[in-house]
Amino acid sequence: MRVAVLDRDSCQPRRCVKECQKFCPKVRSGDETIIFGEDKKPIISEVLCIGCGICVKKCPFDAIKIINLPEKLKSQETHRYGKNGFILFGLPIPRVGEVTGILGPNGIGKTTAIKILTGELKPNLGAQKSFGFLADQKAKPFEGGEGADWKEILRYLSGSELQKYFKRVIDGKIRSSYKLQDIDSLQKFKGTVSDFLEETDERGEIKKLTERLGLEEVSERNISDLSGGELQRVAIASCLSREREFYFFDEITPYLDIYQRVRVAKIIKELSKEKSVMVV
Ligand code: SF4
Ligand code: SF4
Repeated sequence: MRVAVLDRDSCQPRRCVKECQKFCPKVRSGDETIIFGEDKKPIISEVLCIGCGICVKKCPFDAIKIINLPEKLKSQETHRYGKNGFILFGLPIPRVGEVTGILGPNGIGKTTAIKILTGELKPNLGAQKSFGFLADQKAKPFEGGEGADWKEILRYLSGSELQKYFKRVIDGKIRSSYKLQDIDSLQKFKGTVSDFLEETDERGEIKKLTERLGLEEVSERNISDLSGGELQRVAIASCLSREREFYFFDEITPYLDIYQRVRVAKIIKELSKEKSVMVV
């Protein structure tokens, strides 16, 4: 089944003439395949859309994509990003001895997947009832919606590997170290690179990491004065220096040259021999 989905960040309803709705053949034939929400952005009906792709071609901001709904996975929604947003089906679970990678274009929810795995964000399991627009009316009902608590989530995932994983997260048996995508947020720290790294150094590895990541020269510089590449390496060093079971790295390549990327990849590979690592 093909259906149109909206990339809400790209949609700019104030700068277009609503081409998506204007040219949709289903709307032209009189049904409500595309209506507009309170935020003026389109809501595309998964039930009515026939996936013809005309709206994709007409939208001046490339805000709509056609996706193939994986028929067999409809009852395993892990997280839905709102109406017409992308849906996560299942989640990869990192394992010791492996580096798990999540690949894909911007906006498909890679960062959200990491936030769910670290326990920072509760999965809404598709929030099927609260959204009330199921493509497959036979999909397993979920009573909790977005406000579900962990008990309901665990019950829903009963018997799956994901349930065991989340149980360990809730019980505090899995603690995560997370390298943020937004490295600029580090600049809020008032102090030097060494002050910052000493605060996170739970493994006694900072001296070694500082050398391997080429940070010695900037160690006495204020965090707020660092370049993008220096900030990226400080963020990576900080994540690596914590003593945790799971390590998540959200985008490690921006601002790094090829040699720095290879160096970081080697360090992460070494870490994965004894810890679980996931890279986006
Ligand atoms: S999807 Fe495209 S055409 Fe439709 S409202 Fe958004 S920007 Fe305009
Ligand atoms: S894919 Fe076709 S039917 Fe679906 S919303 Fe776009 S134009 Fe309408």
